Amino acid sequence: MPLEILKYPNPILARKAEPVPVVTPEIRALAAGMAEAMYANQGIGLAAPQVGASIRMIVVDLSGPEKREALVTLVNPVITAASGEQEDEEGCLSVRNYRSMVTRAANVTVEALDLDGRPLTIEADELLAICLQHEIDHLEGVLFIDRISRLKRAMYDKRVKRWTTPTPDQTNS
Ligand code: ZN
Repeated sequence: MPLEILKYPNPILARKAEPVPVVTPEIRALAAGMAEAMYANQGIGLAAPQVGASIRMIVVDLSGPEKREALVTLVNPVITAASGEQEDEEGCLSVRNYRSMVTRAANVTVEALDLDGRPLTIEADELLAICLQHEIDHLEGVLFIDRISRLKRAMYDKRVKRWTTPTPDQTNS
């Protein structure tokens, strides 16, 4: 069974995640579980808080669940440089039935540790830059719906409330 992915408005998704002090076998096992959950849910990125672990680790694989050939795991990732601007439609495995345009930096430099605890630097643009910014946002407790207009957000929250409020039928069963 892949790890369960938490859904908005779960409060863990709004929490700032803790740095990983040492890359232990447990951390590597969690990373493997995160990749599995990402692939099982047809995602291209996943952050540890989305599986209930409030620590600073993300997985990304733009090649997708069929190919699985570009998996990158980043521990304690930090955006050290960002420039330009791009806008694209985003969704999130933790945000049900919703996609929206989000403006992000066009180019980012990310520094992190790999699963052997070695430092690495990634220069990203286009979709990889979007994905890295989206996943690193999760480590700050920020979702893409925190970056859309107030009106759009209010409309989405209304829908979420409808899904999460039990109907009289469910209350009785
Ligand atoms: Zn997400």
